[in-house]
Amino acid sequence: MKQMDEFTAIMKARTFVNKVNPSAVPVSVEAYAAELSARVKYDKTMSAEEDGCSTFFNGKLVIAVNGNHRQERQRFTICHEVAHAVLGLPSEHDAASWSYAKRPPNEVICDAFAAELLLPFSLFKPHVEKSDIGFTAVEALANLFEASLAATASRFATVTSAPCAYVLSEGGKVRYCARSKALREAKAWIPLGVVLAERSLTARLRGGEACQGPQEIAADIWFSDWQRGGELLEDSRYHSPWDQGLSLVWFEDEEVPEQTNSEQRLTFENDGLAELDGVLPWPGRSRRR
Ligand SMILES: [Zn+2]
Repeated sequence: MKQMDEFTAIMKARTFVNKVNPSAVPVSVEAYAAELSARVKYDKTMSAEEDGCSTFFNGKLVIAVNGNHRQERQRFTICHEVAHAVLGLPSEHDAASWSYAKRPPNEVICDAFAAELLLPFSLFKPHVEKSDIGFTAVEALANLFEASLAATASRFATVTSAPCAYVLSEGGKVRYCARSKALREAKAWIPLGVVLAERSLTARLRGGEACQGPQEIAADIWFSDWQRGGELLEDSRYHSPWDQGLSLVWFEDEEVPEQTNSEQRLTFENDGLAELDGVLPWPGRSRRR
């Protein structure tokens, strides 16, 4: 099976979006299909768990989408099928599409491509920057762009200039994480496969506690090997039929805490650069010569 990495797929999605150049929100998914000269067929005979599929008829691409699904889901499906066509990746649609844990890698890649199409950077970024952070705001953006909450939250965390991360968990374990540039640069890392910390809002919602976000939580509850301290705000949505949690975490004042002295020393030793703050990690300069 052909494999493709997510970065390549996203670059191709951006090129494709630029070609179609959508200017209004919500974007026209028919315009994306038209770019491929594809016809979209709304099929009401599909079973509830089927999203869509692509076939060729007289040399023309036909995208069939489940006509019984909600519009927002149909829009995602159409963009997902466009992804298969543009990336040349075959479909593996046996597992339920909602389950991230069971989704084949190429399907995940087509989902990422679809999210880029539904929430194009140039149209989405200005809304993100004037929006509050948290699920109330992300729900409003999801409605505006007619996209799913998961796709919107993921794109939100990716494009915001604030230090913010989005996490999708399933069965109480982290399955996917998207981080903003500010958090990537600060090396705030949420490893895949780890069990949600008990004290996190998401784990408490999963445990049946009636709590409401956003709530304050120590940053090292979420980030692994985090030395800088600081408090995050965490907001969550939990969907019990799928045992799936969506989480947003961010630094409230939109500032990542400064590096600690030990981290700075580490950076210094790794880089072998000039002294930081005038304090040398070894006594005297003579040994440097
Ligand atoms: Zn697919």
